Amino acid sequence: MSAEAESAGPDIAAPQNHTFEADVAKLLHLMVHSVYSDKDVFLRELISNAADACEKLRYEALSNPSLLGEDQKGTIRITLDAVARRITVADNGIGMSAEEMIEALGTIARSGTKAFVERLESAQQAEGSQLIGQFGVGFYSTFMVADKVEVFSRRAGSDVANVWSSDGKGSYSVAPVGLDEAPARGTKVVLHLMEDAKSYAETYTIERLIKTHSGHVPVPILLADKPD
Ligand code: ADP
Ligand code: MG
Repeated sequence: MSAEAESAGPDIAAPQNHTFEADVAKLLHLMVHSVYSDKDVFLRELISNAADACEKLRYEALSNPSLLGEDQKGTIRITLDAVARRITVADNGIGMSAEEMIEALGTIARSGTKAFVERLESAQQAEGSQLIGQFGVGFYSTFMVADKVEVFSRRAGSDVANVWSSDGKGSYSVAPVGLDEAPARGTKVVLHLMEDAKSYAETYTIERLIKTHSGHVPVPILLADKPD
């Protein structure tokens, strides 16, 4: 290694491991062990985040039009792979930097969610699923159906991309990835589905969920089976 490379600072390719904030760990534990809860909600949450990201980009582009480039129209793409038991939700919205992923996907920024965790802890079983629906637990609901979640993201205007990865059991990692692995702009969430959640990799199930829970999303949703 040259002296120049040695002085270039820490190795940027090494994944960094982080521990979830205590309330996130608690929330994840409660959700994963709530057999009664309505697992379908994860898709509504991912679609809503993707649509929010497209909306945030549109807003930022008002003062910085170059952020949109050629790819002007917000789109959500859902890809299914029944063989690999995988569902992917991708958007071409604002995207996240590594720091933003650590903040957004490792803590509970929303004050309402802290109150939710407290209520969920003291709730009776039957009440739990209602609470989850009522509060909208967001991104973390993915761990009700997936034993591994990866979030590839590239912020609009940035020339670097990162992947956030976790099994939902207390910690997560963030690492840089090659630009060919992430969307050109925006975020791609990959769920590695648990055996008992494999129906979420089937077109029929996902079409039904989109129709029932995400009918009013203001961004087009494209659904594709993985080409074989
Ligand atoms: P909420 O959407 O209510 O803020 P979530 O748990 O659903 O809570 O998401 C947490 C945060 O993660 C979001 O506020 C946003 O900052 C970030 N996030 C999640 N998904 C995406 C995405 N597809 N694109 C950009 N940011 C995202
Ligand atoms: Mg959300």
